[in-house]
Amino acid sequence: MSMKVYNTLTRKKEEFVPIEPGKVKMYVCGPTVYNLIHIGNARPMIVFDTVRRYLEYKGYEVNYVSNFTDVDDKIIKKAIEEGVDADVISERYIGECKKDMAALNVKPATVHPLATREISGMLEMIEQLIHKGHAYRAADGTVYYRTRSFREYGKLSHKNLEDLRGGSRSLLVSGEDQKEDSLDFVLWKPKKEGEPYWESPWCQGRPGWHIECSVMSRKYLGEEIDIHAGGEDLVFPHHENEIAQSEAANGKTFARYWMHNAFLNIDNRKMSKSLGNFFTVREIGEKYDLQILRFFMLSAHYRSPLNFSQELMEAAKNGYDRIATSVGNIKFLLENTKGGETLTHQESGLLKEADEYRKKFDGAMDDDFNTADALSAVFELVKFINTHVSEKSSRAFLSALKEEILLLCDICGLILDRKEEMLDAEVERLIEERREARKARNFARADEIRNQLLEKGIILEDTREGVKWKRA
Ligand code: AMP
Ligand code: ZN
Repeated sequence: MSMKVYNTLTRKKEEFVPIEPGKVKMYVCGPTVYNLIHIGNARPMIVFDTVRRYLEYKGYEVNYVSNFTDVDDKIIKKAIEEGVDADVISERYIGECKKDMAALNVKPATVHPLATREISGMLEMIEQLIHKGHAYRAADGTVYYRTRSFREYGKLSHKNLEDLRGGSRSLLVSGEDQKEDSLDFVLWKPKKEGEPYWESPWCQGRPGWHIECSVMSRKYLGEEIDIHAGGEDLVFPHHENEIAQSEAANGKTFARYWMHNAFLNIDNRKMSKSLGNFFTVREIGEKYDLQILRFFMLSAHYRSPLNFSQELMEAAKNGYDRIATSVGNIKFLLENTKGGETLTHQESGLLKEADEYRKKFDGAMDDDFNTADALSAVFELVKFINTHVSEKSSRAFLSALKEEILLLCDICGLILDRKEEMLDAEVERLIEERREARKARNFARADEIRNQLLEKGIILEDTREGVKWKRA
């Protein structure tokens, strides 16, 4: 069965054909690291991790690159507030973000490049753009992209250049009047007092935001990639500008498929740091198992807005628990069944019937990753399992069904068979919290955590290289 992917570029569902058979090159714009991520930021992480998992299940080798933006006004502002260097802030929140990703069972990317480590590549691409007439240096050393030099500008967001120009004229602010055109955007800007900066042929300064993704994508995936993804707020200007940069520099189509998730809302408004209407992943993790948050995110199609509410989280909890109970039941029966080892004739027939649910699941995922319908197929399988397993079932029958349901859950990144993987993330989180408690000389809390872990059979060992742990 062929797969269909909705492409923002053409506004159509298209058949998925990768550039190289059997391989997928995928780039997902990552977060700016100046704070704990909120659950809106978690939506693209979960959605595109699920896309990746499904592609892998279909046999593709996926090269998945996702950056951290570690130089930005907000990071610098926070560093000034705390009186530390910007990299102290970004390193801290990259660490925190990775912990959240682990708890959400989002696989680490093949590469997680950092903007500050890729400056030489950015200088190179900016040089290329200047050389080809697509960029220019203004008197103060700022380098701008010459937007009108890229004839296809606006093709992703379906915007017309003239309309854009009309809309942005009033936005010209002081300092920007060195631009040739109101639509030109910054590739490199001069340093300000107290900010991190790098040497460049144009001035001591730092990159604009958009250039990092064009550069990292080219470096780690090549000039042409299969899928470029992110939240829908990135379509314009970020992804539009990335296309302008990459296609002008490389002379090739940048990405074949552009995928964008809709917003996670709260009271029908986009959840965002600036509106202050957000919950961090950490906060939700205090109330719920984060697998339930993952389930919640997948219960809607990724291109539909999703409104976060207590009721929907409770509904997600019920749904997730229903699957978990069914898996738990099979596991119990596997240990206690009075049935034989091998399949009975009737069970063979039933397993063929159960195949239909996998087909339904695949059909839903092949249709632009419709996880909502895919989860419905999982529930049908749960119902089937609950109806047909008993203590008379053979071990082969129980094992086959257990594998089937766990496979479908695993494609969704849902952990139902609670083993070390989930616990590891939790242990790491507690160890980190204990380290912080000790640093803050809160030894009571540190001891409490040690005991809490001991109760779960986790033994801590303080060594010179840091804390090591093992299971009792
Ligand atoms: P940022 O750190 O704001 O650049 O966001 C990182 C990623 O999260 C981007 O792909 C954004 O589009 C996405 N994002 C931010 N807020 C939301 C939201 N409320 N719902 C869905 N995606 C979001
Ligand atoms: Zn990006």
